Amino acid sequence: MDAAVFDRALAKLVKALGADNVVSDLETLSGYIDLYPLEPSQNNAPSVVLYPGSPEDVQTIVAIANEFGLPLSPISTGQNNGYGGKSPRLKGAAVVDMGRRMNRILEVNEKFGYALVEPGVTYFDLANHLKATNSILMIDTPDLGWGSIVGNTLERGVGYTPYGDHFMWQTGLEVVLPTGRIMRTGMGAVPGSNTWQLFPYGFGPYPDGLFTQSNLGIVTKMGIGLMQRPPASMTYLVTFDREEDLGAIMDTMLPLRINMFPIQNVPVVRNIILDAGVVSKRTEWQDDPGPLTAESIEKMKAALNLGYWNFYGTLYGPEEMIQMAWGIIQQVFGQIPGAKFFTNRDRTEDNGDRGAHVLQDRHKINNGIPSLDEMKLMDWLPHGAHVSFSPISAVDGADAMRQSTMVKARSDQFNKDYAAQFIIGLREMHHICLFLYDKSKQSDRKETLDLMRLLIKEAAAAGYGEYRTHNALMDDVMATFNWGDGALLNFHEAIKDALDPNSIMAPGKSGIWGKKYRGRGL
Ligand code: ADP
Repeated sequence: MDAAVFDRALAKLVKALGADNVVSDLETLSGYIDLYPLEPSQNNAPSVVLYPGSPEDVQTIVAIANEFGLPLSPISTGQNNGYGGKSPRLKGAAVVDMGRRMNRILEVNEKFGYALVEPGVTYFDLANHLKATNSILMIDTPDLGWGSIVGNTLERGVGYTPYGDHFMWQTGLEVVLPTGRIMRTGMGAVPGSNTWQLFPYGFGPYPDGLFTQSNLGIVTKMGIGLMQRPPASMTYLVTFDREEDLGAIMDTMLPLRINMFPIQNVPVVRNIILDAGVVSKRTEWQDDPGPLTAESIEKMKAALNLGYWNFYGTLYGPEEMIQMAWGIIQQVFGQIPGAKFFTNRDRTEDNGDRGAHVLQDRHKINNGIPSLDEMKLMDWLPHGAHVSFSPISAVDGADAMRQSTMVKARSDQFNKDYAAQFIIGLREMHHICLFLYDKSKQSDRKETLDLMRLLIKEAAAAGYGEYRTHNALMDDVMATFNWGDGALLNFHEAIKDALDPNSIMAPGKSGIWGKKYRGRGL
């Protein structure tokens, strides 16, 4: 942007929102950079941060952005680390920090089981509120509970209770469109409706999905379904000794998951590196910075009493039902030689059993109690940062093995540890390959970025695509969703240009650029 035009836009914003809510001092801006940058030389700082206090403020911001051509980058709480965090996709865009002032829990409905929230409400906030009000409801939280419910749901993030697919439980949006109009989706479009949070689809085409992983609006309110707290729950861990067991694990898993019994939640199968990463530093197992040797992996397994693969799930219901489901799980997975079974009731961290840590943490998370324990992964390496390569896999033994072998081979080649988990949906899995790197070393950042780029291409050649990615890789991932000569991206671009003629909203998000920026190689 021309500096003089930018100054005029800022002056108008200050007049409309007040100087406290239009902040461009260096100290504030430095809080909106990517904490886990991948590109060697930049971390995508914004030029200004805006703090709206109401949907009307958001409309005002959008109007001024249109007038001056100011690109905006909405975030809720910006705890989206590993994907770009608070930083804009387009360097220099104005961050619209929705969470700072718009952070009210507008409604919790005990009878129907839902909450209506503003963007700044975090998983911790809602969990604390439910506890303080002695609610019968519980939340579904992602691994780290400090982020926003709106932000995570708009990114199609996941949790681990039966309500783990967050977008599936989203019911009703209020959104400011790039033209400044405000819209409610679903039944919210009927004035006076009392079913906005009960029936997400409303009438006519269903637009809600267009506001996820997208740049077509700024969400100001969202409804989310909440399940009732069960009378009892028990979290289990099944350990499998060998890397090759993955195939049998997934083939056993599929029918139990499709039918939602005896597996009731979104279970995870984590490898030993990921579990060890939460309770130790890499140097405990190996001094050589090269790939972890088979010997080091065996040391981890023995010291932590875990398998190469570790399967965590939670059962809910009356105790009889829990025991019945647990019996079936032990019977079917017991057919895989070497499988060992534990529960949160019989395996605790007492007596220094570090291998029980993840089991106990899962028990909390899977009962709606947010945690930050997975942040300990950042201590695996000095100056630890993470990024995830997250291809979708079928819940299928051969597919899971194929992806795992592919990623492991490349990780070894690039000296990155394959810290992985499969998050198991009803028919597909998010195969989250978490690469930890030393963010203080430019060479390490570059290697990690190169590895990610290579994997995106290699996976696509095998027919695999990612569910979500870091800002720096959005164009790369979108380029792989190119069936029909790029029909999907062309569709997104057509909608983008129709709804956002001045290309002001989050340019480049998910590889979708408005026409003003398209083809400029930004
Ligand atoms: P969290 O803090 O929950 O991890 P973020 O606030 O970082 O989530 O949001 C993740 C992404 O979702 C943002 O980068 C942005 O693309 C999108 N997003 C978040 N909140 C909004 C919102 N209120 N309106 C539109 N897009 C949003």
